[in-house]
Amino acid sequence: HAKEQGKNQYCLFESYMSTKLLEKYQLEEDLRHALDRNEFILYYQPQIDIMTGKMVGVEALIRWFHPNKGCISPAKFIPLAEETGLIVPIGEWVIRTACKQSTAWRKKGFSDVRVSVNLSAKQFQQPDFVEMIMKIIKETGMKPELLDLEITESLAMLDIELTKKILLKLRNMNINISLDDFGTGYSSLNYLKQLPINTVKIDKTFVDNITVDASQQTIAKAVIDLSHNMALQVIAEGVETWDQFSFLKFQKCDKVQGYLFSRPLSLEEIENILEQDKGFIA
Ligand code: C2E
Ligand code: MG
Ligand code: MG
Ligand code: MG
Repeated sequence: HAKEQGKNQYCLFESYMSTKLLEKYQLEEDLRHALDRNEFILYYQPQIDIMTGKMVGVEALIRWFHPNKGCISPAKFIPLAEETGLIVPIGEWVIRTACKQSTAWRKKGFSDVRVSVNLSAKQFQQPDFVEMIMKIIKETGMKPELLDLEITESLAMLDIELTKKILLKLRNMNINISLDDFGTGYSSLNYLKQLPINTVKIDKTFVDNITVDASQQTIAKAVIDLSHNMALQVIAEGVETWDQFSFLKFQKCDKVQGYLFSRPLSLEEIENILEQDKGFIA
């Protein structure tokens, strides 16, 4: 009987594995067609100036509306897109869409809202990456000063010489560079000064305990002060409470992003906010 049972368990395990694999292949297959089928959409999360409380920028965050599975989180499909190389065309679509949108907003009179776009390592390593960006800027009429390209620490550290080379080219085009998820990777504050970046984004994991954990406070304060000493701006990600906000404001953090102000919003919702802001000024 024990033998029979063992065999059954083995079969169950095998069928479980193949179900998982099948699911993955199916998702991969669907991902291959998602661009052509217009299943991607950009959401935009407000970035707020900590002193004025105004929305000064948005981070473009991709969403996949799968025909049967509904909205799939980028946390689930970006790794698959990276693994398969599909991130290259998908990432290009994201940059083009965000740039087109920025130009459309400028034409509507929302002339100074910045747009941040996330980059993947695979994209960044394409030999024609800088040319691709140049081409999109030209084709869409994007004002490069309004574009922030977000790279993660771990991407930056993969090949620091290549990173520097590419970032310098982008900086020469007046594009801004943000270091995303700062504090989660291998790099230290030491590396910051080697990279031609404009902004440091303090990761949510540091913001989470900022009001209760003295060591987290010390780290956040150090990152803000050091960044400012190097003429870098600081954005705090994942701000969810007013206590966190007050602490960050007291420490002179420049901008905040988080559910306290807004979740990532659809185009229609973000345009409502832009219109309200315009109303305040006019
Ligand atoms: P990220 O670039 O660090 O983006 C911030 C993530 O944190 C977003 O998740 C956002 O919705 C979430 N977030 C913002 N504020 C809060 C908060 O107060 N609380 C909590 N719990 N979460 C908050 P999202 O949109 O699911 O994106 C996850 C990650 O997927 C992004 O992290 C980014 O690494 C990646 N991603 C998203 N869009 C793109 C894209 O177009 N290209 C690439 N390469 N990666 C992308
Ligand atoms: Mg980001
Ligand atoms: Mg981040
Ligand atoms: Mg993150």
